[in-house]
Amino acid sequence: MRDYYEILGVPKTSSKDEIKKAYRKVAMKFHPDRNPDNKEAEDKFKEAAEAYSVLSDDNKRSQYDQFGHAGVNNSRGGGFSGGMNVEDIFNSVFGGGSGGFSDIFGGDIFGSQRSSGNRRRKAENLKISIPLTYEEIFEGTSKKIKIKRWEKSSSDAQKCPTCNGTGEIRNVQRSMLGQIVNVQVCPNCKGMGYIGGRDKKTATIKVKIPAGVSDGNYMTLEGEGNHSLSGDSDLNGDLIIYFEEKPHSLFVRSDSDLYLECVINYSDAVLGTEVKVPTLNGKVKFKIPAGIKNGQILRLKNKGFKEVNGYGGRGDQYIKVNIDIPLNISKDLKKIILDLKNNLDDEIKFKKIEN
Ligand SMILES: [Zn+2]
Repeated sequence: MRDYYEILGVPKTSSKDEIKKAYRKVAMKFHPDRNPDNKEAEDKFKEAAEAYSVLSDDNKRSQYDQFGHAGVNNSRGGGFSGGMNVEDIFNSVFGGGSGGFSDIFGGDIFGSQRSSGNRRRKAENLKISIPLTYEEIFEGTSKKIKIKRWEKSSSDAQKCPTCNGTGEIRNVQRSMLGQIVNVQVCPNCKGMGYIGGRDKKTATIKVKIPAGVSDGNYMTLEGEGNHSLSGDSDLNGDLIIYFEEKPHSLFVRSDSDLYLECVINYSDAVLGTEVKVPTLNGKVKFKIPAGIKNGQILRLKNKGFKEVNGYGGRGDQYIKVNIDIPLNISKDLKKIILDLKNNLDDEIKFKKIEN
């Protein structure tokens, strides 16, 4: 892997603006639309996007300056949660809309129309969500999931008659300022330029889910979405997997910590006791100290979830102790409690509430 500064051709001291300008230059030069079927140019284009994504982010840049490639490549576990793709990076700098590259390279800037056989539009992404139990999140897990996606079939695709294979519909309007070209994604082929040529198939995909994920986290499996009609796997859509937490019968989660309530009787509160506390990986012996108060919260260290993207840390498990005050008691028990009452100080005190 080449040095990021070298890729963009800028000195280490360059400002954010200079880096952006340099990236623009390199990206324009090596853009796939301007270098059809040129693998080398495509690699350079991707390389530049990666360099820019790091050097344009203060945090990542300082990591990179200190630790080199190792400093930025390990910060995210395998493209987890919000890794950008090349197209996103390009669009963030060139301000491309939904049309992405094609709006910019559609002939308006460079004065030449793209040939219709040379489309670079990716097939659609797919999104699914996977429900996970707390136990699965605690350990991390692998799942085999079934998705329905379009895959290239043996029959050939037909050029879309609505857009004539370009994937877009252009409306030219005259206005006082001159011509306005309105470009829309073709509704018939959804921008693919082709119709037919693919079948809906059920695919089984193995997904490795890291420990500690939470509701709304997602991971992107590149190229596992709908397949491109071109047969070029680079143009396959992505599969985006969202994680969903199933509620647990005992535990409540707060970030990487877990909360649980434990109900003990009065005698255990006064004398202290040892309990076996359930955790997400088995029961653990735990001492409740003598003289514990109702509502007091005790902590079991490192029994919470792993911090995802963190450096191996774990949350804790908190145990809220509640003292059971029975509503109905037997005659015998009543006798014992009355006995107890006679032995206790029966003065009632009032105090200011402490926060
Ligand atoms: Zn079309």
